[in-house]
Amino acid sequence: MITINKNYLDLEKSYLFTDIARKVNAFEKANPDKKVIRLGIGDVTLPLPQVCVDALKEGAEEMGNKETFRGYGPEQGYPFLRDIIAKCDFSDRGIDIDADDIFVSDGAKSDTGNILDIFGPNLKVAVGDPVYPVYLDTNIMAGNKDSIIKLPCTAETNFQPVPPSKPVDLIYLCSPNNPTGSVMDHETMQAWVDYALENKSLILFDAAYEAFISDDSPHSIYEVNGAKKCAIEFRSFSKKAGFTGVRCGYTVVPSDLTVTTENGSEIKLRELWNRRQTTKFNGVSYIVQKAAAAVYTPEGEKQCRENIEYYLRNASLIKEALEEVGYEVSGGKNAPYVWLSIPDGHTSWSFFDYLLENANVVTTPGSGFGACGEGYIRISSFGSYEDCVEAVERIKNLKA
Ligand code: PLP
Repeated sequence: MITINKNYLDLEKSYLFTDIARKVNAFEKANPDKKVIRLGIGDVTLPLPQVCVDALKEGAEEMGNKETFRGYGPEQGYPFLRDIIAKCDFSDRGIDIDADDIFVSDGAKSDTGNILDIFGPNLKVAVGDPVYPVYLDTNIMAGNKDSIIKLPCTAETNFQPVPPSKPVDLIYLCSPNNPTGSVMDHETMQAWVDYALENKSLILFDAAYEAFISDDSPHSIYEVNGAKKCAIEFRSFSKKAGFTGVRCGYTVVPSDLTVTTENGSEIKLRELWNRRQTTKFNGVSYIVQKAAAAVYTPEGEKQCRENIEYYLRNASLIKEALEEVGYEVSGGKNAPYVWLSIPDGHTSWSFFDYLLENANVVTTPGSGFGACGEGYIRISSFGSYEDCVEAVERIKNLKA
């Protein structure tokens, strides 16, 4: 008899983006003359940086040539990419991370989910509320449903989780945060690392949006003392370099990171993750890794920065315009997301409907990311500048 992983039956149906699409489609059908502006989805809209396009073409040529063709590559990623990541993302910023600690993958979504393969059942897991849903659902799939602790990310906590009073095993942190757009400062991150070291917890730090940091907030958790002993970090080229459709990211598992098993022996997590990857993953394609390496060339850095600045300009335009007419808004400074506190008398969904019907602007209801997201909507800055200008004008006019 075939048995299934019954934990999957505990998952709630994910209706958020389907419900949004259904409402938007119905609205467009009923109002074909209205131009709907989409500021809901967190996908990039600018094309790939030219250096990456060139590297993809060059890689494809190499693959088509008998002398330079490559078959399976190292599961952990090619040394040319791991070395340049270790240099540019870490050692040039004063962080000591070895290229061997870097595992190249097809993106942060897979890795933040797959990492649970190396842990046992019934872990006490802390996640933010609201949260990027992958952390929650993958823990339900792994059987941790009854031991998930939700940490409110509210105005009082600066829209980031704060350490709980009791010990937990795993902690998911995301900075800059999706969906709240909040970024952790050095002190807050240090408090989390101190908590983790004291309670023998492991931090799973998602830095998918680090490229949006434009002040001195930490880009990596390893900028904080002690983090190499208690944290795994996930990075992505998706938002940094427009790779959402190309697929590349990496995970850092420092060599000093260990957990103590029930019988008291110390196990190196890097060895377990390496075993997991070499068994279940055959690496990212050569041409994609070439394109990722091109991100670190001077021209690549420049082109990626221009794209990030474009989205950040959108974010600050949205934030400032909405503040001007009296909305309470956070995020949008070091992140592509603006988190808007909705006016009294509305729920997240009713305000979503109100904006769709009256301003013809699509946003994302905060309640879709967790109960503490109720009372907020997320506005994405990944659209075009012209669309953002028009969207905020329309929203402002509603107040007039
Ligand atoms: N982590 C967070 C917080 C995200 O918001 C996203 C995508 O939106 C991802 C990870 C996924 O990244 P990737 O495209 O590298 O899988």
